[in-house]
Amino acid sequence: MISFGPVPSRRLGKSLGINNVISPKVCSYNCVYCQAGKTYEKSIKRTTFFQPEDIFKKVLEHIQLLSEEYYPDYLTYVSNGEPTLDINLGKTIELLKSSGIPIAVITNASLLFDETVRNDLFLADWVSLKIDAGDNDTWQKVNRPASGLDFDKTIESINLFTNIYNGILCTETMLIDGMNDDADNLTSVSEIIKRLNPRTAYLAIPTRPPSEESVNPPVSEKLNMAWQIFNNNQINTEYLTGFEGTDTGFTGNIYDDILNITSVHPLRQDSLIRLLRNDNADFSVVKSLIKQRLLRSTIYNGNKYYLREYHLHINSQLE
Ligand code: SF4
Repeated sequence: MISFGPVPSRRLGKSLGINNVISPKVCSYNCVYCQAGKTYEKSIKRTTFFQPEDIFKKVLEHIQLLSEEYYPDYLTYVSNGEPTLDINLGKTIELLKSSGIPIAVITNASLLFDETVRNDLFLADWVSLKIDAGDNDTWQKVNRPASGLDFDKTIESINLFTNIYNGILCTETMLIDGMNDDADNLTSVSEIIKRLNPRTAYLAIPTRPPSEESVNPPVSEKLNMAWQIFNNNQINTEYLTGFEGTDTGFTGNIYDDILNITSVHPLRQDSLIRLLRNDNADFSVVKSLIKQRLLRSTIYNGNKYYLREYHLHINSQLE
């Protein structure tokens, strides 16, 4: 399950996803809104998940299977957890650069205290940093970081990285009703982001089923207030609140396409139906995956989604 898509991305066009973290999920955070489910393995220790040559080979094979229409605009690390936990991230980026396709990394920014992580990310053409909280209390509530991480040090490390990074820098702030959408937090977050001078600061809301059922998007007045606060701080701000579209890339292997995409985010029913059509398959594939307990469906905000089903050995790391 190393590569998937390309999926239509609101920020990156046709984005071929690279999942460089083993399933089900390893992350330094356990965000309440995570679309990849709860973090059962919370870690801040970099490790080997795959060999760089294997990722490189899989991605090149995947690209060769795509028609011209789906040639990716970006190769994007959007993992089943935190991509910088992969100790080989830099080596893999260097290999993938030979494809000529720009590389993007979507990271939660929590490991930037580590110089090797900063050096790896310097190699990427586009980096998005997650900044949801302007203070430690909100950070603990929304992102639920692994022990060993410190809020002030994380912000300091983000500054250290952005002072040197010369690719395209973006930030992403996920807004949750009643958790981080108050004026105080939004003001603090906007002050942190202003110092980073990103190309664009994205304000996101949960558009897919979250890890915690109680999580909801903010009311529209709060979203508007967030934009006003960022904008008043001269930050180029955009909403990331719409649906990406249904035009998902396909490889001809419908089982792999469905399982690879749903291991990173749930698939809305209309996207799934389009994918089935493109892969010349029918709904019996979905029924079979559900029967094998590899997929399940859920309703969120009036839409039906299909999620990857995992059979986890739950341990004490679960919060
Ligand atoms: S949203 Fe990202 S950073 Fe947060 S728990 Fe999920 S994978 Fe980790």
